[in-house]
Amino acid sequence: MRVLGIETSCDETGVAVFDTKHGLLAHSLYSQAKLHAEYGGVVPELASRDHVRKLLPLVNETLAKAETRPDQIDAIAYTAGPGLIGALMVGACFARSLAYAWGVQALGVHHMEGHLLAPMLEDNPPAFPFVALLVSGGHTQLVDVQGLGQYQVLGESLDDAAGEAFDKAAKMLDLDYPGGPLVAKLAEQGRPGRFVFPRPMVDRPGLEFSFSGLKTYTLNTVAEHALEDGLPDEQTCADIAHAFQEAVVQTLAIKCRRALQQTGHKTLIIAGGVSANTRLREELEIQLQKIGAQVYYARHEFCTDNGAMIAYAGAQRLLHGQREPLSVAVHPRWDMTILPAL
Ligand code: ATP
Ligand code: MG
Ligand code: FE
Repeated sequence: MRVLGIETSCDETGVAVFDTKHGLLAHSLYSQAKLHAEYGGVVPELASRDHVRKLLPLVNETLAKAETRPDQIDAIAYTAGPGLIGALMVGACFARSLAYAWGVQALGVHHMEGHLLAPMLEDNPPAFPFVALLVSGGHTQLVDVQGLGQYQVLGESLDDAAGEAFDKAAKMLDLDYPGGPLVAKLAEQGRPGRFVFPRPMVDRPGLEFSFSGLKTYTLNTVAEHALEDGLPDEQTCADIAHAFQEAVVQTLAIKCRRALQQTGHKTLIIAGGVSANTRLREELEIQLQKIGAQVYYARHEFCTDNGAMIAYAGAQRLLHGQREPLSVAVHPRWDMTILPAL
């Protein structure tokens, strides 16, 4: 089965062709980051309009790269939520119309299930069951994953998502949007130990997260050391970025270990934009080795939003026989645990 995948939940237009026999044939991504940069965050209406502009050229380009004719596509999978309603509507209407014209199935995919399954696109993929740490711009969740659609949330953030915290810390340090990768880069120049930021909620039992206190702590530290232009000197900014990243990474790692102990699983997968973070990967590798567990993640470009994960997740569900009616439905908010278990 050959599936065209379409992702438009936020500010990335992603398209891919996944073949259940031959694997990923091609993928393309267009990021609107530059468009939104001057506003310091995603402007929903601009995002929708840009998806309208970019989708068709990107589909043509991806089909060509995959050396696939439209009549070789068996189904279209698109992101049906969660995300920005306008952006989701563009992808859903486009995918459903194209599927209708081509006379093939279309299936709405849950964006976070897409992230969750992305590590399966790599060689030596993880096997069920496992614990998943979903760490993205909008989510920080630990999930017990027994199989496709068999998800139990073990804990999540009570306030900001980890990626959101990175983006806000970036803003405080006068870095561009999205700030996660830029904070990570700046942190490399930071000196360990100059600042030690709190590790939120690690002393309490349970698997909940909270990053808003860390955000305030970062803001206060920046203000304390600010020079006339409102920012600390370069080295101090790097030291702050380092301390911030360490606090997030350690907090996530502690909770991951706890989730593995609680479930008895020996496999952890990390997915979503923050799973691209090198320090997080490194720290989890060290800590999990000590308890005989293993961590899996996707290549960098499949940690953040992309079409490949949507094509893959859709293909798995279609293979298991899931079908949907022709109506266009999107879910800006969508609980992953109510998805059909297959
Ligand atoms: P969601 O998937 O929850 O709907 P999203 O789609 O906006 O949210 P993703 O595309 O998965 O989120 O990830 C983007 C987030 O990942 C941003 O917050 C970005 O700053 C963060 N991020 C990306 N790379 C890194 C990195 N190397 N270190 C830390 N954070 C990162
Ligand atoms: Mg994005
Ligand atoms: Fe995402």
